[in-house]
Amino acid sequence: MSECLFCKIISGEIAPDKVYEDDDVLAFRDISPQAPHHVLVIPKEHIATLNDLEERHATLLGQMYLAVKAIAKQEGVAEGGYRTVMNCNHDGGQTVYHIHLHMLAGRGMQWPPG
Ligand code: AMP
Ligand code: ZN
Repeated sequence: MSECLFCKIISGEIAPDKVYEDDDVLAFRDISPQAPHHVLVIPKEHIATLNDLEERHATLLGQMYLAVKAIAKQEGVAEGGYRTVMNCNHDGGQTVYHIHLHMLAGRGMQWPPG
C-alpha cells in the first residue's frame, strides 16, 4: 500500500472533493484553500517531483493543463483568470511529494509570489 497521500486519494482510500477526472488525471479541491477557487490537478501515475519527469510524461503534463482549462470553464473563472503553480522540493514549497498543479482563482493574484 502506498504511503503517498495523493496515491491514497487516487485509490479511493481517502475521498477527495473531486472536480474533474479522466483516465490519466484527477482534480480535487485543496483542503486548505488559498483562494476562493483552489483546485489541485494530479496525474494518476505517482511522480514524486518535477525532477522525476521523464520524456514519456510529456503528454501527461499537457493533459494536466487541458484539465485546468476544462476546470476553469466549469468553475466560471476562465474569463476572469487564474494562477497555475507547481512547487518543486523544499525551496519551491512542495509539501506533498506527488506532483500537482495548483489552480487558484477568484481573487487578484500578487506578483512575485512569496
Ligand atoms: P504543495 O505545498 O505545493 O506540495 O501543495 C500541497 C497541497 O496539498 C497544499 O495546498 C495542501 O493544502 C493540500 N493538501 C494536503 N492534504 C490534502 C488533502 N487531503 N486533500 C486536499 N488537499 C490536500
Ligand atoms: Zn503518489
